[in-house]
Amino acid sequence: MEKNLFQKLPKVDILMKSEKLEEISKKMSYHNYYQAVKDGIEFFRNKIKNREITDFTEDEVISKIKEISGIKSRPNLRRVINGTGTIIHTNLGRSILNEKITEDLGEILLNYSNLEYDLETGSRGSRYSHIEKLICDITGAEGALIVNNNAAAVILCLNEFANGKNTIVSRGELVEIGGSFRIPEIMKLAGTTLKEVGTTNKTHVFDYEDNIDEETAVLLKVHTSNFKIIGFTEEADKKDIAELGKKYEILTMEDLGSGVLVDFSKYGLPKEPTIQESIKSGIDIVTVSGDKLLGGPQCGIILGKKPLIERLKKNQYLRAFRVNKITISILENIFQYYKDEREAIKEIPILNMIIEEKGKVLERAEKLSAILKERNIENSIIETESKIGGGSMPEETVASYAICFTGDAVLLEKRFRGNDIPVIGRIKNDHFILDAKTLREKDFEEITGAAERIFL
Ligand SMILES: *Cc1c(COP(=O)(O)O)cnc(C)c1O
Repeated sequence: MEKNLFQKLPKVDILMKSEKLEEISKKMSYHNYYQAVKDGIEFFRNKIKNREITDFTEDEVISKIKEISGIKSRPNLRRVINGTGTIIHTNLGRSILNEKITEDLGEILLNYSNLEYDLETGSRGSRYSHIEKLICDITGAEGALIVNNNAAAVILCLNEFANGKNTIVSRGELVEIGGSFRIPEIMKLAGTTLKEVGTTNKTHVFDYEDNIDEETAVLLKVHTSNFKIIGFTEEADKKDIAELGKKYEILTMEDLGSGVLVDFSKYGLPKEPTIQESIKSGIDIVTVSGDKLLGGPQCGIILGKKPLIERLKKNQYLRAFRVNKITISILENIFQYYKDEREAIKEIPILNMIIEEKGKVLERAEKLSAILKERNIENSIIETESKIGGGSMPEETVASYAICFTGDAVLLEKRFRGNDIPVIGRIKNDHFILDAKTLREKDFEEITGAAERIFL
């Protein structure tokens, strides 16, 4: 019996020519197709060996091969559905963009562009020129420069302005962000010596002043974006640091991190320091991330006095940290939106989600819940809290609603995650939930399909 079953297994080379597989064979490379057919047959060989089946048809083998080839031909970097409620989720790719931006980007990627070509003179141009003026108009800075990310921005600036000299930082601001960005390590890389001043909970302006000597090159302020020191605390005001810098002719710099251009407190959210405020305070150099609260592409943006930005453009590190055309194209669109705050909130998905009212989130949760119920999938709506994320607004949460499923939470989490388009949720009070704050209506079809495969 078993022997007959083995003999019934189709041969690889014959099966590869099967008409039933013609369509998928055209879509795949020869190597992947060959592997898929081999793996499909192997799957049934094992089933026979382990006595898990007593018979099978050729159609069953074909269907298995189709399933395997689907997995083999999908890319490793894939789209997922974010049901975690964390809006700027570093593990899930931080900010997301709208369609108009991807269309403009496609135009740049599918064609040649004027990336480093001056169309006026017909000669070599600078990749940084396309967006500098726009960024300056929006932020109020005199000059701007874009690099690969904010970590690179900080290294580049400290290397240019403090290499071989000292940089003064408050003990309360020696932060670590995301496990790999630690201010003391970054300083070493940039070639500057860290001089810590003040205490963990309190640093006054005189702490900076008392430590200034002929070796001091930079007074650095770091925004403690991913944690909060509460209680008996004090930090030096950036205005006072800027003034101190002017008095001693020492450069002042702020690593602001999240890069906020909109005053969130106007929308009933916690106040986050804005880029415009930092520039106005008189600080010479400000650095921010492009893909946190700014809602743009991964990049670091350096803002500051014109002669300082010009010096940075000549630093050799810039060649290694330079941005590509993808970043420049996306960032130009993002800053265009910021010309009008209402437009920015409408068009930048991250801002839209952050500011969206609780009532709207509930509406979305109710809609998904009803669709699921229509398909006989038991669920309820619970109140929950979403996070802004991205190392910003520590401890602060925004009210939200989530779909709560019935059943083994650990198992459900795993099975939703294993969906073809993975659905990532979280476990709250032993229940698997999908937070509607970060779900979009275009995800509903896929979520419902996944739920049906899991529950029914
Ligand atoms: C996020 C952050 C960084 C690191 O920025 P990347 O763009 O991720 O390199 C550095 N400093 C602060 C204060 C941050 O918040």
